[in-house]
Amino acid sequence: MSVNQDKSIYESLLEGNKIWVEETLKLDKDYFEKLSAGQSPPVLWIGCSDSRVPANQITNTMPGDIFVHRNIANVVTHTDMNLLSVLDYSVNVLKVKHVIVCGHYGCGGVNAALGNKQVGLIDNWLRNIKDVYYANEKEIISIEDPQQKSDRMVELNAIHGAKNVMSTSIIQNAWSNGQELSVHAWVYSLKTGLITDLKTSASSAEDVSPVFKMDAK
Ligand code: ZN
Repeated sequence: MSVNQDKSIYESLLEGNKIWVEETLKLDKDYFEKLSAGQSPPVLWIGCSDSRVPANQITNTMPGDIFVHRNIANVVTHTDMNLLSVLDYSVNVLKVKHVIVCGHYGCGGVNAALGNKQVGLIDNWLRNIKDVYYANEKEIISIEDPQQKSDRMVELNAIHGAKNVMSTSIIQNAWSNGQELSVHAWVYSLKTGLITDLKTSASSAEDVSPVFKMDAK
């Protein structure tokens, strides 16, 4: 991409912002005034950074509806301070009712983790997905079709991510304190635009291995 093209793209973004503001104000002249008063989104979304999976558009929601954390391949690890800070703030300050880990078929991060080609620093991040592969090796190896193998890994990665969310001290403490909160794993199809619930939701410590349970302080 040349510098000029680059410039026209960023200028078009600013132009697009002005158009969006005008159109939004036509529908509701107080929209920004009301939105600036504060937020109380009922949902935390943990999704992939992929440009084709924007949380609000694909769920037909608006600014203010979903608190969002995105990273490459929607990885959830217990030592990611960025993710843990978002989760802690969402659960303990915003008091979200649902945490959703949403993967998507055709995820470049998952596909890279399935291969052996070195990309760079990101290989260390994607190692987390190789761990998911390793934990489910028997099932994954038994799938011969590369597309199906990739799709199943995407699902398992989202499920693994949701389970990692459930086993954090943040969620375990919230459940011990009687907070109403559910954690879900979803997968989005780039080809159809549809989301599938992977049916591994949990809403109490009983749904998770006792080893992760935190007694109330
Ligand atoms: Zn992705």
